[in-house]
Amino acid sequence: MKLIYLVPMGDIDPDILESAALCLWHTFGIEVTVSDPMEVQTDTYDSKRKQYGSIEILRALLKSAPKDALRVIAITDKDLFIPVLSFVYGHAQFEGKVGIVSIARLRQEYYGFPADKEILTQRTLKEVVHETGHLFGLTHCSDVACPMTLSTNIRLLDRKGVTLCESCMLLLKENMLEK
Ligand SMILES: [Zn+2]
Ligand SMILES: [Zn+2]
Repeated sequence: MKLIYLVPMGDIDPDILESAALCLWHTFGIEVTVSDPMEVQTDTYDSKRKQYGSIEILRALLKSAPKDALRVIAITDKDLFIPVLSFVYGHAQFEGKVGIVSIARLRQEYYGFPADKEILTQRTLKEVVHETGHLFGLTHCSDVACPMTLSTNIRLLDRKGVTLCESCMLLLKENMLEK
């Protein structure tokens, strides 16, 4: 049986992992397993930017993907970047196997507010659905309430929901039938 592997990378609250696993199962209809934690590869760290390169992390994830993994999605507490952007909330190969979400900028503390687990959980779920959606061939959506909409800041991220819009859901079903 093929599974979605959810990989904790760094300090990730087990409750958030469990919520993310449930949410993925509900959204994509594929069984999810939370794997053992994986170390963040130190050679993906850019000391000038004080961030981790998501392209390099995805490469490492792909290399270590279990045989029965249909998709692998990691959640890390490390701040991520790709060379053309100052940061990314997440990154996934389009129609690929591996993706990653960073909670570094999803925490209320990052913006100078007290920690809020519920807010962090909701933001994480939206981004996990977003990156996993890319893995299943979904592109960015123009519906601002759909998790597949592109969020370039936390205000835009908070505006969207966790549930895919009707057209993304339809596209997802079509994509899954083709496979
Ligand atoms: Zn995206
Ligand atoms: Zn949509």
